[in-house]
Amino acid sequence: MIPALKSVRVLLGITAISLTFSLNVTGQSIQNKKPNIIVFLVDDMGWQDTSVPFWNKVTDFNRRYRTPNMERLAREGMKFTNAYALPVCTPTRVSLITGVNAARHRVTHWTSPDKNKNTDYPDSLLQPVDWNINGFSPVAGIPKTFHATALPALLKQNGYYTIHSGKAHFGSSGTPGADPLNAGFEVNIAGSSIGHPASYLGEKNYDNPVNGKPNRNAVPGLEAYHGSDVFLSDAITTEALKAVKKPVSQQQPFFLYLAHYAVHIPLTADKRFLNHYLATGLDSTEAKYAALIEGMDKSLGDVLKYLDEQKIADNTVIMFMSDNGGLSTTPARGGKAWTHNLPLKAGKGSVYEGGIREPMLVRWPGVIKPGTVTDQYIIIEDFFPTILDIAGIKKPSLIQKIDGVSFLPVLKNPAFKDDKRALVWHHPNRWIAAEGPNIHYASALRQGDWKLIYDYRKSKLELYNLKDDIGEQTDLAASNPRKLKELASLLTKQLREWDAQWPVWKASGKQVPLPDEILVLE
Ligand code: CA
Repeated sequence: MIPALKSVRVLLGITAISLTFSLNVTGQSIQNKKPNIIVFLVDDMGWQDTSVPFWNKVTDFNRRYRTPNMERLAREGMKFTNAYALPVCTPTRVSLITGVNAARHRVTHWTSPDKNKNTDYPDSLLQPVDWNINGFSPVAGIPKTFHATALPALLKQNGYYTIHSGKAHFGSSGTPGADPLNAGFEVNIAGSSIGHPASYLGEKNYDNPVNGKPNRNAVPGLEAYHGSDVFLSDAITTEALKAVKKPVSQQQPFFLYLAHYAVHIPLTADKRFLNHYLATGLDSTEAKYAALIEGMDKSLGDVLKYLDEQKIADNTVIMFMSDNGGLSTTPARGGKAWTHNLPLKAGKGSVYEGGIREPMLVRWPGVIKPGTVTDQYIIIEDFFPTILDIAGIKKPSLIQKIDGVSFLPVLKNPAFKDDKRALVWHHPNRWIAAEGPNIHYASALRQGDWKLIYDYRKSKLELYNLKDDIGEQTDLAASNPRKLKELASLLTKQLREWDAQWPVWKASGKQVPLPDEILVLE
């Protein structure tokens, strides 16, 4: 009897230990240590469309805009002066939620809300490539989509309450990628296949009917605000913060993807902020644009205020980013085309800096030293592994291979430097009817301060040194053939490895030459 009793005691002891252990692992005290994560993504916002300077000097554009909440975020967190997205919307968003470079996921261009519709503008010289015109898909076997494990799904599996509010634009209507709920979001506010709102105005029900029928870009799911004077940026913010209440009250970590429709066209007067900009002498289009920026910044302020009120700011990481460079076509923008991002060249649609360089800020109390600045270059697919790192998700089970690199080491040390890594942009598409500086059919690579541009239609390579020439004005291709060859080889090697798509000439049916083949031809 005595040995048996002993066994029971030992067994009970083990059970008690196991019980304590499991409580510690899954109980709230440990769970709470996972930080909340907010991705605050703005649409079409340029690098200087803020009062926060992201360069070594304050520019006239910085002086034009009023973004006090971005200023606060910069004071309390880290500023990234070399952060990149892709030239247009959907490729950036798909890279963000999958961690994959656009050359490999093949959603190289913006997706139409209509299924199976190629948005490539017809070109006289080149045939469009067979890219994934229906966007991202969380389900296998959907034609013309990139099937992958989405970031919100992984976060949800790992205990996060996942909220989508605003613009999704991950995939076309009638495919699973159109609905953020299929990508692992538990809540979806106003997100669908559309890439811009029919209207920003509650008075118009966020719609702009065509022949008495709802516009295909009418913003869904905000019926409670129909007929009100609530501007779209405010509606998605208010609803997002309402949705956050549930995980906060349950002490569950949350992931909030607050993706603004602002500041995409249609540029619409936000009356709360417009008059100031008109009074400074801006034309009405640019005044509307500036007011959209200030309304977006007010949303950021509302989020920061909420975190303070709930006393959760210390355990919340907030990441501010834009999805492509500032729009610089006219008459959509006021003034002269391709001047809205100067000294950066070009704008949305281009692989020049104006089309891809973004304002980026990250705040993480206790980890990021306030008021720090990093010059390390990063690209949008890096958000995926970084967010997994922040959430403590190690070795997740993924369908796709990741191209992004975690910038957690940068967050911990702003002096962290990696000059060897090459960033790659691949845009084998024609964006719009008008011509513009490399807004159609172009690839680019950055390594260190060097940048290579490849214009397919001209079969031309350009080389710049961004350290001295952020405006990409002095082409060094002829004067530095060694560097040109080195980067052309590197770009070719990387795009070959990813099995990137290349257009063919309409006249000959032959594929355009690869970057390193250009040099042989010359
Ligand atoms: Ca965009």
